[in-house]
Amino acid sequence: MNNRLPFIAGNWKMNLDHQQAIALVQKLAWSLKDAGHDYKDAEVAVFPPFTDLRTVQTLLDADKFEIELGAQDLSKFDSGAYTGEISGAFLKKLDVKYVLIGHSERRQYHAENDDVVQAKTAAAFRHGIVPVICVGETLEELETQGASAVPVAQTLAALAGHEKLEEFVIAYEPVWAIGTGKVATPEEAAMVCGKIREAIAEAHGEELAAATRILYGGSVKAANVTGFLRSPEVDGVLVGGASLDADEFSGIARFQKHIGV
Ligand code: PEP
Repeated sequence: MNNRLPFIAGNWKMNLDHQQAIALVQKLAWSLKDAGHDYKDAEVAVFPPFTDLRTVQTLLDADKFEIELGAQDLSKFDSGAYTGEISGAFLKKLDVKYVLIGHSERRQYHAENDDVVQAKTAAAFRHGIVPVICVGETLEELETQGASAVPVAQTLAALAGHEKLEEFVIAYEPVWAIGTGKVATPEEAAMVCGKIREAIAEAHGEELAAATRILYGGSVKAANVTGFLRSPEVDGVLVGGASLDADEFSGIARFQKHIGV
C-alpha cells in the first residue's frame, strides 16, 4: 500500500478544436458522475491543445467539474521574443495544473533532447505547474539496451541541476507502444517503473521517490488498464487515442471497479 493518488491523464495531442473540446469534457464529466466516480480514488486530467485551454478552464470552473487541466508543452523561457512559444506564466493564469514535458513526439519531431526537457522542467517548477515528464525507449534501444536504461537515464537528466525539486510525475511510455496498439506487458511496465523509482531514490532520496507518481503510457484502453494498475509500482496511466472517446476514457478512470479494490 502507498499514499499515491492514482492519476489518469488524457493527452489529446493535436485533436479537437475548442468547440469539440466542450462536448468531450461535458460527456466525460457526466459519464464519470453517472458511474459514481469518486475523484479521491483516482485523479482525472485532460491535456487539450493550447487553443482549447481557456474554453476548457471556463467550463470546468463554471460547472464545478473535478477534472484537472493540463497542457501539452511549455516554453523553457518565461517571456519575450520567442515567436510561437507559450510561457508557463500564461498556463498558470489559466489554472493549468500539469504540463507534459518531453513527450516522445516532441523529442522525435521537435528535436527535444534531455537538456531541453531539463530546462522545460525548470520552467514548470518556476511557474508552479507540475511537470509530467515523459520518458521511454525506442524499439532499437529496447533491443540494444533493454527496457529500463533509456527511461532511467532520461528521468535522471530531467531531474538534474534543479535548486529544489518540486512535485513532478514521470510517465514511462515505450516509444514503440505509443499509438501502435502494441502494449508493454504489465510485468515489463512494472519493472521499468520500479527501476525509475529506484533511480530517483538513489539520486534524490527515498522520501521523494516514495511520493512520486510514475505512470505507464502506450496504447492503454479500458480493456487493458487493470493489468497495469494492479502493480503497486504503476500509479496511473497516460492515455492518447483512447482519451478522445469519453466513455472509453471514463472506463479507464474507473479501473478500480474492474480490479475490485
Ligand atoms: C500518448 O500519446 O502519450 C499515448 C500513450 O498515446 P496512445 O495511448 O495513443 O498510445
